[in-house]
Amino acid sequence: MSPRRRPRNKRCWQCGVEATTKDHIVPRNLYPKRTQAQLLTLPCCDTCNQGLSKDEEYFRLVMLADWNINEVGRRVFEESVVPSLHKGFEGLRMRALSESRPISLPVGGSFVDTGLWSLDSNRLNRVAEKIVRGLYFRMSGQPMAPDMKFQFQLRPDDELRELILKTPWHPRPVVIDPEIFIARHRIARNESGQEASGWLLIFYRCVPYFVVAMSSDLQRATDLDAVPNSAPVEV
Ligand SMILES: [Zn+2]
Repeated sequence: MSPRRRPRNKRCWQCGVEATTKDHIVPRNLYPKRTQAQLLTLPCCDTCNQGLSKDEEYFRLVMLADWNINEVGRRVFEESVVPSLHKGFEGLRMRALSESRPISLPVGGSFVDTGLWSLDSNRLNRVAEKIVRGLYFRMSGQPMAPDMKFQFQLRPDDELRELILKTPWHPRPVVIDPEIFIARHRIARNESGQEASGWLLIFYRCVPYFVVAMSSDLQRATDLDAVPNSAPVEV
């Protein structure tokens, strides 16, 4: 078992240069403006801190566009997203509305049809990957290997839901605030140091994002099950 460690030096967790600010592992824009929730952060440089800010804006918009969004999600939507839509996020909004799936957004306690919705999964997945890498770093004190292969599924389908239900997750979930963000994880490693981890990120109690990260030379995460001593690693 790895001891729980925190980075002692103030180096950027992403690129290693001297840290000048703090990076929120779960994007700050997903929280209400005033919140008692723990803001899980890591030391960071300004460049890395700004690196995904546009994607994080988009990510928030998509997380909030769920029929079952909870009260906290509605609050974030009304205090942050609605004003930003009026203030020059028209390009983002038009891109978001450019495809085939009807969607409604929660406004003022009910839902408003916005038309059609296109998900730019690359942008979403970049943010999800950063959250997973940040959680991993925070738990283990070490970065996840840069060449890890990732697989993502927002709102897992039935088959994947079955797998998620059967997964023996680490007993302690990461809870920032159950109304905002919960993560379940499981990390397995074999004697050769190959590693696979599964991450279930749940936003606003209702939007699940499933992420698998595995060593670049592993074909499938489940291959670890065939290797003796591939005990789960507690982090
Ligand atoms: Zn950096």
